[in-house]
Amino acid sequence: MRGDPEAHELLAPGTLSGVLKLIAAEPGKWTPIAGGTELMVAHAAGRLAARKLVSLWGIRELRFLRVEPERMVLGSGSTFYDLRKHPTILSEFPLLAKSASWIGSVANQSRATLGGNLVNGSPAADSSPALLAYDAEVELMSECGTRRVPYAEFHTGYKRNVRMRPG
Ligand SMILES: Cc1cc2nc3c(=O)[nH]c(=O)nc-3n(C[C@H](O)[C@H](O)[C@H](O)COP(=O)(O)OP(=O)(O)OC[C@H]3O[C@@H](n4cnc5c(N)ncnc54)[C@H](O)[C@@H]3O)c2cc1C
Repeated sequence: MRGDPEAHELLAPGTLSGVLKLIAAEPGKWTPIAGGTELMVAHAAGRLAARKLVSLWGIRELRFLRVEPERMVLGSGSTFYDLRKHPTILSEFPLLAKSASWIGSVANQSRATLGGNLVNGSPAADSSPALLAYDAEVELMSECGTRRVPYAEFHTGYKRNVRMRPG
């Protein structure tokens, strides 16, 4: 059975600080939606439990790829199309470029984000082997501050990660 759009609320504050404020005001109530390639499939199938959605799409502070002297920083809102076309990713992180090009079709890669792939936590996610091989770290952000965890410690179980409470 298809989901009912009227059962859901969607806000798009348009800035990272706006999103963090909303989430902090009602902890646990707001679910981020980025490209929507996981969540909209769940909605279409009538199994999207989240009632309050906050859009990350189009937020500039999340969609960037920055080359630094000792590392590369990938914004969680970067799409797999962004990743597979970036010259430094192609030359220095070829496994990541390759895995980005494997994800769905080009249409899917143009919406699907790196952050969505990580947080969705499918054991079949194509970005995971590359992130592990390159010793990636994940930066977690809230109104209270930021912290970094090695990607190897990010997933704590099937579709579970360190952002969630145990259980
Ligand atoms: C036709 C099709 C083919 C696909 N093929 C592949 C494939 O080959 N390989 C593969 O790995 N995947 C595939 N996928 C799955 C999907 O496209 C990816 O997992 C994608 O990266 C999800 O990103 P998104 O931005 O669309 O996530 P969304 O649907 O927006 O969100 C997914 C989850 O991540 C959370 N989230 C998103 N961004 C953030 C953030 N910045 N911070 C905190 N939480 C966040 C959401 O709350 C939600 O729980 C496919 C999907 C479809 C529909």
